[in-house]
Amino acid sequence: MNMEAFYFDGRSSKRHTVRLEATSGHLCLHGPEGERRFAFAEVRVSEPQGRAPRVLHFPDGGCCEVAQGAELDALLQALGYRASFVMRLQSNWPVSLGALVCVILILVAAYQWGLPLGAEIAAPYVPVKPMQQLSDAALRQLDEREVLAPSRLPLAQQEKLRGGFARLVALDPELASYAPNPQLIFRSAPDIGPNAFAMPGGQIVLFDELVDLTDDDEVLAVLAHELGHLNRRHSLRQLIQSSVTSAVLAAYFGDVSAAAAYLAGIVVEAKYSREMELEADAYGAAALRQQNKSPLLLASALEKLERSARDEDDEDEGDEEYEEYEEGDAASEEQNAGDEDESGVLGWISSHPDTRERIRRLKAL
Ligand SMILES: [Zn+2]
Repeated sequence: MNMEAFYFDGRSSKRHTVRLEATSGHLCLHGPEGERRFAFAEVRVSEPQGRAPRVLHFPDGGCCEVAQGAELDALLQALGYRASFVMRLQSNWPVSLGALVCVILILVAAYQWGLPLGAEIAAPYVPVKPMQQLSDAALRQLDEREVLAPSRLPLAQQEKLRGGFARLVALDPELASYAPNPQLIFRSAPDIGPNAFAMPGGQIVLFDELVDLTDDDEVLAVLAHELGHLNRRHSLRQLIQSSVTSAVLAAYFGDVSAAAAYLAGIVVEAKYSREMELEADAYGAAALRQQNKSPLLLASALEKLERSARDEDDEDEGDEEYEEYEEGDAASEEQNAGDEDESGVLGWISSHPDTRERIRRLKAL
């Protein structure tokens, strides 16, 4: 049993062609400069790396490069070589597949539970000041890119809503950590539709379109819900999660997928979790009660927003679909409502999933 290999003596870079032979536990090298023997127990065999040659390391510092293949396998077998436990696992595909599945499950679990938990723990320690600057910068960008337009609400109405908002803020001493915010900011965005959102720095942005759709008490119910997101630092937690995800993806994939990392950030940020919405609803309902107002105001605001999102959907889907909806029975209406979260509508409803369940819960309070 012998095969050809390249020998390096470990002192110069010169390559010698040798023949390898297995004889009773010894590896013999036959070369132009004679024969050398090594006890195979003292020879270290490199692990296979793709199709690269395997390397046999000798105790004197020399080594041989040997092409992979049946010849090498036969030589190693004749020498009584046993692959390491890890290598045997690697060449066993059900085990490798199992290991891969485990790793994926661990990553998914870390993403699903570990990351939100970490963000929740870290959020209270993030100073508010830089978050306010970041949120101001984000708002400036939205304004500059004309995603948002100046509000056209009459000043008197803005003042009235600001008063109601200030009373809601005054109910919760914990919101004082956002000083000088929380602050109510009015904007208009006909392309986006009725919406309101809380920024990590404590700015709550309210769209004219939402004010137009609902009455003032319902607007305050929505603002109370948004204050719930602030109180629990939901948007900050989302921001932490998406930053960590982006950073991990960028570190793992390098430059290639900076775009993917960015996208991941967006996906993560796009929606609050169901738990977060329910928390904000519970907070909003409690705040309304403290002001002797009914939590049903939030439910009715949700219903109006949902109806408006559905109408928007129907317009988008064309006349045929519209007629079908008009004639449709209750079941198809239910179906239609269930699909809403997947729609292209960018307003409050699409960023606030599980609307039906939330309305049911609010009504049951
Ligand atoms: Zn919400």
